[in-house]
Amino acid sequence: MKLVRDNIKKLQEYKPNEDTCKIKLDANEGRNFLFKSIKEDGIKFPEGFDINVYPDNDAALLRDEIGKYINVDPKNIVAGNGSSELIELIMKTYIDEGDSIVSFVPTFSMYMIFSQIYSANFIGVESNEDFSVDMDKLIQKVDEINPKVIFLCNPNNPTGHLVKKDKIKKLLDNIDCILVVDEAYIEFAEGSMVDEILNYENLIVLRTLSKALGLAGIRLGYMVTNEDIIRTINKVKSPYNLNSISQYIGINALKNKDRIAEYVKDVKIEREFLYNSLTQLSFQVYEPNGNFIFFKSDIKDLDAKLEEKGILIRAFSDRLNNFYRVTVGEGWQNKEFIKSLKEILKDENS
Ligand code: PMP
Repeated sequence: MKLVRDNIKKLQEYKPNEDTCKIKLDANEGRNFLFKSIKEDGIKFPEGFDINVYPDNDAALLRDEIGKYINVDPKNIVAGNGSSELIELIMKTYIDEGDSIVSFVPTFSMYMIFSQIYSANFIGVESNEDFSVDMDKLIQKVDEINPKVIFLCNPNNPTGHLVKKDKIKKLLDNIDCILVVDEAYIEFAEGSMVDEILNYENLIVLRTLSKALGLAGIRLGYMVTNEDIIRTINKVKSPYNLNSISQYIGINALKNKDRIAEYVKDVKIEREFLYNSLTQLSFQVYEPNGNFIFFKSDIKDLDAKLEEKGILIRAFSDRLNNFYRVTVGEGWQNKEFIKSLKEILKDENS
């Protein structure tokens, strides 16, 4: 232990909830629609595909497919082992000990965890009472502390808040540091910044196949940015970071643009059902823009009560005590979730 760096000694291990439940709505995973159909079609590996040799270091075919999916030149894309790897690559590339990293809070916890690992100061700018954000407040903070990197999770996990493009452009017009827009959930909203990457020297967009494509298990994410940043990031990236099988499944999956769009449409319909049902049950519900819903409940240990009924949702601590995040599931799962909530409410009131 004495040989471990001081900030790692203080670090808590990231522990996902590994409880198993009949209905898992705690991790914002997408539904198993694409891989299911790829399996049904029968996975055939292409001529020459083998795994005794290292994978394609540049993931060229995968980047071609990503390029077609988002309408961007593949030379502006780096693929990663989940967008988590790319968040870390940004830290490795830009952060010296003691540098500052800024984000609105609450937000995705990995920005803070990686900041700690890379000995940076993570500065959180509190969002408003209703979890909307004040861009002027962020710009003022940036002027004050001169950070190296800003992370903007859009739509934001866990609150669901979406920042409109004109506000992001205003931020870009007022800063010199790197702005990372994490668009893990953008397929469920509107206003991606991928078509703006050539207009700025300092804009990086992160995307993932874990949510709208339902492929969290193969760990594929990507970064979209200008070629100058791409060259620098590629110097830092580990060789062969993406295994061949994930690359191959990703290539196949991304060809299904129509199926993905259909799935997203369905999630939005189910999201509306959940939003309306939760509102009718008098919970404080925040406008959703991802594949999840953020809500407040004063029922003590609501997550544990739901878990007893076989349903996992995500609970939070500190400022977010009494707040919960539920992933939009399949129709039957969402109905079961609402039915269980009604039972819990009845027990509470009896
Ligand atoms: N960004 C956000 C906002 C997320 O919520 C997540 C996963 N929960 C990630 C990035 C990481 O996604 P992955 O590594 O699976 O691509």
